[in-house]
Amino acid sequence: VIEVEGLTKRFGDTVALGDAALRVDRGEIVVLLGRSGSGKSTLLRHLDGLETPTSGSVRVLGEEVPSLTGRRLRALRGRIGFVFQQFELVPSLTVLENVLTGSLAELRGPRLGLWSYPKRLKLAALGHLDRVGLLDQAYQRADTLSGGQQQRVAIARALMQEPEILLADEPVASLDPESSAQVMALIREIALDAGLTVVCSLHQVDLALSWGDRIVGLRHGAVVLDTQASGLSKAEVMEIYGKVVTSTT
Ligand code: ATP
Ligand code: MG
Repeated sequence: VIEVEGLTKRFGDTVALGDAALRVDRGEIVVLLGRSGSGKSTLLRHLDGLETPTSGSVRVLGEEVPSLTGRRLRALRGRIGFVFQQFELVPSLTVLENVLTGSLAELRGPRLGLWSYPKRLKLAALGHLDRVGLLDQAYQRADTLSGGQQQRVAIARALMQEPEILLADEPVASLDPESSAQVMALIREIALDAGLTVVCSLHQVDLALSWGDRIVGLRHGAVVLDTQASGLSKAEVMEIYGKVVTSTT
């Protein structure tokens, strides 16, 4: 469902991605591993049409992403959920309203207040909140929740689109280890239940290896590692760590 070939992205003199390639099949759970500046976010943003390549091809769900505009781009984005490191919730809105904003593309435009959403969507939103374990917090303001809870709200919001692909950019980078483990387990559970394809960037090697089915390592904007995560020994883990994460620029 994802085919990236020869993807290069420059920002001025900075080469964020250099001839990167990635193929992901439906239902795969893939970790993008790499240190800060290796191009993880830039690659994920290309998959959702948030960046335009300098050169190369980005095909997602059968569409050549950079060629899409307007309605066709929105339609593709409606099939892709995106979860960010900083959650990106609206702090002054309730948890339920934040989840409902995940359906704004479908409603074509902003809504003011809970009353303005169709009942069908409110029921769906409550269902997703139940799924992430936050039904009791539905009517609290988003900024009263812990970081881990806020990220679970963001996941529920992404589910409103009933996505086929879930992209997550360092979803647990600002969480403590316990909440991180909870959020990562939840993403995996939901993905397996719904047959979602997941591409999730992480910089923690241990977490990547225990969580992902497949590890794609980025260094200086190039894919330097692509392997199944299962069956890797600690020694191999450390070798990957050395190659992908600790190598200096
Ligand atoms: P991190 O772990 O810190 O999030 P990353 O792997 O996500 O890092 P990217 O954010 O993709 O890395 O950045 C890759 C390179 O591209 C970096 O050198 C970064 O400074 C540069 N870069 C990314 N976005 C922009 C931009 N909008 N303008 C200029 N340079 C950018
Ligand atoms: Mg990043």
